[in-house]
Amino acid sequence: MFDELRTLLGDRVSVSDAVREHHSHGESWHAPGLPEAVVFPTSTDEVSAIVKICARHGKPIVPFGMGSSLEGHVNAIHGGVSIDLTRMTRVLRISPEDLDITVEAGLTRLRLDAHLKNTGLMFPIDPGADATIGGMAATRASGTTAVRYGTMRDNVLGMTVVLADGQVITTGGRARKSSSGYDLTRLFVGSEGTLGVITDLTLRLYGRPEAVRAAVCPFESMAGAAATVIQTIQLGIPVARIEIVDEAQLRVVNAYSKTNYPIAPTLFFEFHGISDVMVDEQIKAVEEIAREQGATGFQWASTLEDRNTLWTARHNAYYATVASRPGARAWTTDICVPISHLAECILQTQADLKAAGVVAPLVGHAGDGNFHLIFMLDANDPKEFEQISRLNERLVERALKFGGTCSGEHGVGIGKLKYSAKEHGASLDVMRSIKRALDPDNLMNPGKLIPEP
Ligand SMILES: Cc1cc2nc3c(=O)[nH]c(=O)nc-3n(C[C@H](O)[C@H](O)[C@H](O)COP(=O)(O)OP(=O)(O)OC[C@H]3O[C@@H](n4cnc5c(N)ncnc54)[C@H](O)[C@@H]3O)c2cc1C
Repeated sequence: MFDELRTLLGDRVSVSDAVREHHSHGESWHAPGLPEAVVFPTSTDEVSAIVKICARHGKPIVPFGMGSSLEGHVNAIHGGVSIDLTRMTRVLRISPEDLDITVEAGLTRLRLDAHLKNTGLMFPIDPGADATIGGMAATRASGTTAVRYGTMRDNVLGMTVVLADGQVITTGGRARKSSSGYDLTRLFVGSEGTLGVITDLTLRLYGRPEAVRAAVCPFESMAGAAATVIQTIQLGIPVARIEIVDEAQLRVVNAYSKTNYPIAPTLFFEFHGISDVMVDEQIKAVEEIAREQGATGFQWASTLEDRNTLWTARHNAYYATVASRPGARAWTTDICVPISHLAECILQTQADLKAAGVVAPLVGHAGDGNFHLIFMLDANDPKEFEQISRLNERLVERALKFGGTCSGEHGVGIGKLKYSAKEHGASLDVMRSIKRALDPDNLMNPGKLIPEP
């Protein structure tokens, strides 16, 4: 197999220990899984040829973007070939009139943003890491702006996918809506590399808002902060970002980002509009709700520089937590509940952590009912591992009890496999049937997303 890959790709096949190690894990604590080789294609045709070679030799295939996923998604637990898409970064076309763009799967979100800078357009989805667009689609990612602009589910119009036998298909198209056929685009969005390799994607774009204001708002209590989020969403105020952060998270953020946010349950807001008047209206409505819920003041960031400082501090929350306990591994978990249950879910979770004597900073895209805990784990301490496992399990059970999900955006990978049956019931069998139909030999990222029988 290696000879065939080398004939196809030359030195864009690596079996070096360092390259394989880099591709054996993402950002999570899960045990690494070494691929036998890593390949770096530069076109859909090459991906198709690689997949055909792997299929002939019965070798597993693990698509790899930036490796920023958080549930062991890219770990080659059954060996095989890691297909690194990061040399496929071209912008294939853009249509400012139709507000859409087609890009190769290895382009990262920050490079896409840089490309769009002078067009007046933007692609808003912003996971904290500089992930690839293909990886973001494969994990159905979102970020701070999903409350206004949706997730990857809402913003991928179509894609090119290489299936498990090497066949190349295109899904969707450029029309804003279509009632023709099964929605294969949405099937591949969130499929975590288990159904095919995405090689390019057509995305929705948005005009950059003319008026933007951001603010940090501390509260007397977490209940007040969460209630503000709930009422803001229920009233339909079109906030662009509404993020919740607890005291433990702010402590590490201040230390890491050299900021001095008051240590209190806090909301980070951003408002977008086509005019200042529009933004002022939203701000007035939110300020009123927040004051009634015990807000102790809004710290405004009106200049681009101030806003960048604010959102960079927010995006670095994970790294700030990692830096707070040198030598420990981060274990990030995320759940999502219907918005009316956000406050009770957060408060019950905080009470659970307190009873266990565990500090785990809480941060979340609260407007979607989504929040994360970042546990810091001493990998050599089995007791700590068990305690965090139990807390995580109770968090997921709480979310499911409220009608929520075990993951709002990070996905299943291997970390959340054990919750799939409980969350999906008989639908899991339908997922298995789809997987068998598209990948009968179970070669595409095996062992992820769907529990193996
Ligand atoms: C600091 C930090 C903050 C984060 N914040 C967020 C956040 O706010 N929101 C959020 O949603 N996530 C967040 N994440 C998680 C992560 O960034 C996302 O899951 C991201 O979408 C992964 O993209 P990637 O390019 O790194 O993919 P990878 O980690 O390389 O791969 C992820 C999965 O997608 C598959 N895959 C990758 N590329 C392709 C492809 N071209 N075709 C088919 N399958 C493919 C892989 O096989 C794997 O299963 C964060 C991670 C970190 C480290």
